[in-house]
Amino acid sequence: MKEYDVVIIGGGASGLTAAISSARKGAKTAIMERLPRVGKKILVTGNGRCNFSNASLKRKNYHGTNPAFIGYVFSQFNGLQIQEFFEELGILYKEEEDGRIFPRCDQAGAILDVLRFECLRLHVEALCDREVSTISNEDGQFKIQFQNGEEFLSRKVILTAGGKASPQFGSNGSGFALAEKLGHKIIDPYPSLVQLKLEDEYLKHLKGIKVDARVSLYADESLIDAREGEVLFTEYGISGIPVLQLSRYVHHPEIRNKSMNLHVDLFPEIQFYDLKKQLIDRFQRLEYKSIEDSMIGLINKRMFLPTLALAGIDRTKLSSNLSGAEIEKLTHQLKDRKFVIKGTLSWRDAQITAGGVATEEIEDRTLESKIVPGLYFAGEVIDIHGDSGGFNLAWAWASGYVAGMHAASSILGKKKIKRRRISNVQSAFANATARQARNNHDKREE
Ligand SMILES: Cc1cc2nc3c(=O)[nH]c(=O)nc-3n(C[C@H](O)[C@H](O)[C@H](O)COP(=O)(O)OP(=O)(O)OC[C@H]3O[C@@H](n4cnc5c(N)ncnc54)[C@H](O)[C@@H]3O)c2cc1C
Repeated sequence: MKEYDVVIIGGGASGLTAAISSARKGAKTAIMERLPRVGKKILVTGNGRCNFSNASLKRKNYHGTNPAFIGYVFSQFNGLQIQEFFEELGILYKEEEDGRIFPRCDQAGAILDVLRFECLRLHVEALCDREVSTISNEDGQFKIQFQNGEEFLSRKVILTAGGKASPQFGSNGSGFALAEKLGHKIIDPYPSLVQLKLEDEYLKHLKGIKVDARVSLYADESLIDAREGEVLFTEYGISGIPVLQLSRYVHHPEIRNKSMNLHVDLFPEIQFYDLKKQLIDRFQRLEYKSIEDSMIGLINKRMFLPTLALAGIDRTKLSSNLSGAEIEKLTHQLKDRKFVIKGTLSWRDAQITAGGVATEEIEDRTLESKIVPGLYFAGEVIDIHGDSGGFNLAWAWASGYVAGMHAASSILGKKKIKRRRISNVQSAFANATARQARNNHDKREE
């Protein structure tokens, strides 16, 4: 039976960096992947552009039962090191709005290719089209079995099988079943970074409209969170980055049984009374027009009918005849339009999984199981999820790298690892210094 030092189950983002760090330490490493090729999900990230990290990886952008769990991982492989890791493999990158980091070529395929080539260079074996069905541990050695009956042995196993989100890209929840069989507790998984389903009689009018808005999520009339940015109305409800960010609350165990509403503010840049005053001026100036005509240029035309209907205003009425109370109601509809949240789209549409293997049963420094020595976890399979903005891939790369490093170190001895870690830090430092010098030089040239 074939034997490895480190076997990685799942060739996604975290599995690939785990394989690279393990093999860089000299461990005989293999990736087992259920799909015909590794990294399928990476190709669709960031709309095919791969928002692979964020310039500011903060704890507040991570969620789960214990978000502080991320601390040790990022202290060993931080945002700068993620960027340098990819830069060393050939990726030029750029920073966009809100610190989102993308490859400069805007191609997710480039990120996957450099990871694949590094695995090849390091002789990592990628065994694709193989779904791991059982992991057993006997006398400190792991036996890994596939659905097709094949078996392998390994001294260490890293479980990087992802969660349940977007199963069409590989992560079908089998990682949770494997962890559970080995005795781990799974925090109830639920879909996150997913579009919201709304209940509203006017949705068909709004479908296709894109607006810059502030969206606020309320549960039993209490404000839970609010985000701003471009949102898109659809036939089922609403989408867009601010909506995806709020979606993580919808299935949260403490909230899911409450009645939930989404309040949409079409004028987040203006206070309620300033907007009301502007409307009064507007309708006085356009007093000769119907209220409907005088709204042209104020908001998207397809929003007139629902907005006026909900404000209880006859759209044919002359602007000059609008009462103060009617303008107040109209201002409410523009600043605080309420929609009933019916739920979210399905796992298929979700970008990430909230919940997963309980962090209390994993060593936060090494990512080794506290229950099964020699078993490690990384990526989305763990009960950690991030906001939209590159935080999830950053977690996947960093936790994968750290798990691979510790799994290999525990076999190959501490001395060697210590020496290599120092040289890694030195090269990271040298790169940062060189980059700074380049920037200073460019500024002088300008
Ligand atoms: C459409 C979309 C867009 C996204 N965009 C971004 C973005 O721009 N920025 C960002 O930060 N995050 C983004 N994400 C989230 C990010 O892709 C994930 O958080 C990240 O890929 C998780 O990495 P992972 O390695 O933990 O799991 P995955 O990438 O899910 O990889 C798990 C792998 O394990 C394999 N596997 C599962 N079970 C088994 C088994 N039993 N045996 C063998 N193999 C198995 C799967 O086939 C898969 O290849 C996006 C997600 C989606 C779906």
